Amino acid sequence: MIAEALNTIKAEISDQVTLVAVSKTKPVEDIQTAYNAGQRIFGENKVQELTDKFDTLPKDIEWHFIGHLQSNKVKYIAPFVSMIHAVDSLKLLKEINKQAKKSDRTISCLLQFHIAEEDSKFGLNLEEAQLILSSNEFVELQNISVVGVMGMATFTDKEDQVREEFRTLENYFHVVKSHFFKYNEEFEHLSMGMSGDYKIALEEGSTMVRLGSSIFGVR
Ligand SMILES: *Cc1c(COP(=O)(O)O)cnc(C)c1O
Repeated sequence: MIAEALNTIKAEISDQVTLVAVSKTKPVEDIQTAYNAGQRIFGENKVQELTDKFDTLPKDIEWHFIGHLQSNKVKYIAPFVSMIHAVDSLKLLKEINKQAKKSDRTISCLLQFHIAEEDSKFGLNLEEAQLILSSNEFVELQNISVVGVMGMATFTDKEDQVREEFRTLENYFHVVKSHFFKYNEEFEHLSMGMSGDYKIALEEGSTMVRLGSSIFGVR
């Protein structure tokens, strides 16, 4: 089932798009099955669950942390995590930098934007992102690399609304890119699209989709 689902999805998305297989709540056996089918990038949203899975599973997996991350837990994942998707404060960036430095690593981060109409404590608006990126404190961080942006659309079956929200995020991506990362080729990721809306996200320019239930089944 998992291998078939992966093949179907890979046939639908271009080679240029990164597929993050969201394995949260799923057992290591399921991840191993996806791994055996060739998948190497997995997304988790709980620190304890991620560190447990990292310990047991093959070491060439690229682990993406996709959930809200508390500063005091960064230290547990900093030694191995490949990318942190939902960075929405300078405080968190500074802590990631500090812990990455201890492991002599550079950690790729995405800035999370709030694009949904739903109330959420998480995610930046454009002004907040610009304040962070233009601060001296940010410029001094040597062990993080901001490589793009991420966001989540409203959970609704109103396609027009979801599309509009993805367009907003795509616009933020270009604004941030042109103001702060114009000559930085690493800033290239637009992480948007989940199982319910990734087709729309791809039409609106997503370069990275995060798919859980469409690969592993309902949680
Ligand atoms: C759970 C989750 C996903 C995957 O959701 P599905 O609907 O199962 O594809 C993607 N992104 C984030 C941030 C998530 O928390």
